[in-house]
Amino acid sequence: MSYFIGQEEIEAASNILAKGDLDRYIHGKKSLTYQFEKKFSQTIKTEYSLAVSSGTAALICGLAAMEIGSGDEVIIPGFTYIATALAVLAVGAIPVIAEIDESLTISPADIKEKISSRTKAIIPVHMHGLPCAMNDINSIAKSHNLWVLEDVAQACGGSYHGKMLGSIGHGGAFSFNHYKILTCGEGGALSCNDSELWQKAHIQHHGGCMFEPRSLEIGVNKFAGWNFRMSEISSAIMLAQLNRLDTILASLRAEKKLLHNQIKISANRGTLNPTHDELGDCGTHMHILMNSENDANKLLVEAKQHGIGNIWLAHTLGHVYSDWEPILNQTGAHHEGRNPFNLASENIKDSNRSLEKTSSILKRTIVIPTKFNRPIAELEALINKLNCVL
Ligand SMILES: *Cc1c(COP(=O)(O)O)cnc(C)c1O
Repeated sequence: MSYFIGQEEIEAASNILAKGDLDRYIHGKKSLTYQFEKKFSQTIKTEYSLAVSSGTAALICGLAAMEIGSGDEVIIPGFTYIATALAVLAVGAIPVIAEIDESLTISPADIKEKISSRTKAIIPVHMHGLPCAMNDINSIAKSHNLWVLEDVAQACGGSYHGKMLGSIGHGGAFSFNHYKILTCGEGGALSCNDSELWQKAHIQHHGGCMFEPRSLEIGVNKFAGWNFRMSEISSAIMLAQLNRLDTILASLRAEKKLLHNQIKISANRGTLNPTHDELGDCGTHMHILMNSENDANKLLVEAKQHGIGNIWLAHTLGHVYSDWEPILNQTGAHHEGRNPFNLASENIKDSNRSLEKTSSILKRTIVIPTKFNRPIAELEALINKLNCVL
């Protein structure tokens, strides 16, 4: 479900294919990947950005640049795509899962509970385009000397009290896979304001910078990285996609606003989930917090009976900690000797398996995705059907 791919993307991809120069380093700063990085930094309002091959790669490069590794703990929320946890494991660190609150984002109070002497970073995830409580998270991080890596995979273009998501922590990791707000099929980017962080992320994504182009000017010590480079084809598509960001967000936000205004939830059944910034919300999904699991399940059945197809419980589709098999089983790597869970204390292993508050909230939260440029008649029909069951 990409939101908006058109002629511009098709032309941009065929132009670069016709040229045949598909590597980002061939034309130095004239390459499409450099141009995309520059434009992306302007959009997110950070000094630097690094184009990579996926959102997972962006998280890994961010964590590696923060020098997070073996035995370190990284706090993540129990409601996110599993990639957030996998990236922590990939650098050898232990994911410590914190509760979310009714805003569907990580609970600052539970972050405090989960901090130990081994905690090195927090990854707040702006799930479903919803901004996290960044002021609280940053102040907790500051007082404990922790890194903050925002997971912006689902919230490209969103903001929090006027600041772009991905520019508020020390770094921001974006995904451009098929299901995200902007897409080139598979891709990602890391945003940051710190030149040293950017250089280390660059080394991590370019195999240790063996063939370091002069234009890079890497001044920090090299280390063994991987290959997470973005191809010029993807960058060509992303340059075209970036031009559509405002249009896509305006459409989704307008639809969400209309849904909020016209939907009438019976007070004894549920309410809208609270938000940390209504204006900064990307508007990709609307949420209703039901009073009980029973009410939520009943609503879903009734919605299906009324022909509402695209509606689900937040506690589904693999975005919940209780679905993350390699985390629950503690198979943290392909080889036992590289399994970060070997270094984890028993209480982390146990608490990673049971987050009661998160489960309860997600089992009561109804998700209704918005749709880009949905015809008004279709939207009105949806609102009418929803009002029959709410
Ligand atoms: C999609 C997603 C990722 C991973 O992105 P990929 O490009 O699929 O690697 C990470 N975190 C969240 C919250 C996501 O939704």
